[in-house]
Amino acid sequence: MAKVTGFLEIDRQEQRYQPASDRIRHFKEFVLPLPEPEVRRQASRCMDCGIPYCHGPTGCPVHNQIPDWNDLVWQDDWEEAARNLHSTNNFPEWTGRICPAPCEEACTLNLEDAPVTIKTVEQAVADKAFQEGWIRPQPAERKTGKRIAIIGSGPAGMAAAQQLARVGHDVHVYEREPKAGGLCRYGIPDFKMEKYHIDRRVTQMEGEGVIFHYGVNIGVTTPMKELVDEHDAVLIATGSERPRDPGIGGMELTGVHYAMPYLIQSNRRVNGEPVPEIDHPDDIWAGRRHVVVVGGGDTASDCVGTAFRQGAISVTQLDIRACPPEKENKALVWPYWPTKLRTSSSQAEGAEREFQAATLEFVGKNGVLTGVKCARVDEKRQPLEGTEFILKADLAFIAIGFAGPLEDTFVKEFGGALKQDRRTNILADEKSYRTSVDKVFAAGDVRRGQSLVVWAIREGRQAARSIDQFLMGETSLPL
Ligand code: FAD
Repeated sequence: MAKVTGFLEIDRQEQRYQPASDRIRHFKEFVLPLPEPEVRRQASRCMDCGIPYCHGPTGCPVHNQIPDWNDLVWQDDWEEAARNLHSTNNFPEWTGRICPAPCEEACTLNLEDAPVTIKTVEQAVADKAFQEGWIRPQPAERKTGKRIAIIGSGPAGMAAAQQLARVGHDVHVYEREPKAGGLCRYGIPDFKMEKYHIDRRVTQMEGEGVIFHYGVNIGVTTPMKELVDEHDAVLIATGSERPRDPGIGGMELTGVHYAMPYLIQSNRRVNGEPVPEIDHPDDIWAGRRHVVVVGGGDTASDCVGTAFRQGAISVTQLDIRACPPEKENKALVWPYWPTKLRTSSSQAEGAEREFQAATLEFVGKNGVLTGVKCARVDEKRQPLEGTEFILKADLAFIAIGFAGPLEDTFVKEFGGALKQDRRTNILADEKSYRTSVDKVFAAGDVRRGQSLVVWAIREGRQAARSIDQFLMGETSLPL
């Protein structure tokens, strides 16, 4: 237990942000971390309440031992706190930055609207571990001689690769892009998580023997069959990439884009990677444009923040959901899941938000987008007659989710032998992660559909355990 009376004496204090007017001038992270003594005070608010919601399945998908490391931080034993944190989470500095923190929603103190600042403490522990040099490669003492292929280097693939390398397998990660990280690199902007956090984990993993092969598109540049033949097991961790189609008119207009090409271009520009679209018609730049973003989730928010940083004149976000009531009745829904409506830091940078708004059509002149036609919706999200309105727009980004893996790759190559569920995700058992194809496993968004980084890490870790068990007949990897 941390400080017995901590939660009574100490108020919750959140990390602060740079003011919006300053932070939209750059792409770097803008959170102002709490000083170390304050992090310890915040950790001391954890009362080890005995109700395992924060580290149970509703609170933390990787089952972080939250009360334990809160106590260790309060006791000033940061190194042990870091060890504890890494025993359940391969990349806590990622989740400490970008997780929506279902643990805080599940915290007992959230009954009083003041949960322990679990995410802040997690980030502080992980960052200190890097500063102090406690994060080092942990290569296996013995090699097993088994060779494993992992397709995709997002959080699911990287977590699985690290776990499997540490128990002595030869792990090869095959990645289509020039760098590792998946959506954490090419989707999520630097202002939420700078890319050096990924680079130093790649360095750590290389020190553990993981071999990354970049620019390899399995099922396109390299046949899946080759991978299956040459490895003892294959893990598919390729994410959920097919954008959901809004099924409305005007998609062909210049200025209408899905969110991901926009975010990928921006992330590449910010990190000095080549952007082949620059100076081509597909170059997407929001500077001095009126921007409309369709969708209300993380992807939409990231488009909003990116557009502001590129100098958009206006950014309007369309959300089909209703505006949340001022005060929610938490007693009815606690512990609840944090996909409820919230205001992201990007939205707080000045976005106009239109709630209960359906997007009816993109409208334009001479093939170029000029506006987005919308209507208010009823409780069943059906457009209400007579409520139509048009928002001025030079650019529109569609961010209404993802519908499953790309089909034209290894999925096609398997020709139906690799079973998919009714949402077209790769069908794999939720405990063993085994697919319908012998020695082929699947984990992360490609299996569960679009989700969160913390779920991808969990699935990668659990799939690694299952693969180890499959290859060795037993496993020492944690559940
Ligand atoms: P991905 O991260 O999608 O990685 C898949 C990898 O596989 C990619 O690197 C891809 O290039 C590679 N690949 C695909 N096909 C092939 C192939 N055929 N051959 C070789 N390689 C291939 N979650 C949060 O928790 N917090 C957030 O703030 C957040 N923000 C988000 C913002 C955006 C814009 C998006 C799109 C998602 C966001 N998410 C967020 C969700 C989160 O990023 C994903 O749930 C998570 O990254 C899924 O991890 P993954 O490893 O399963 O797949």
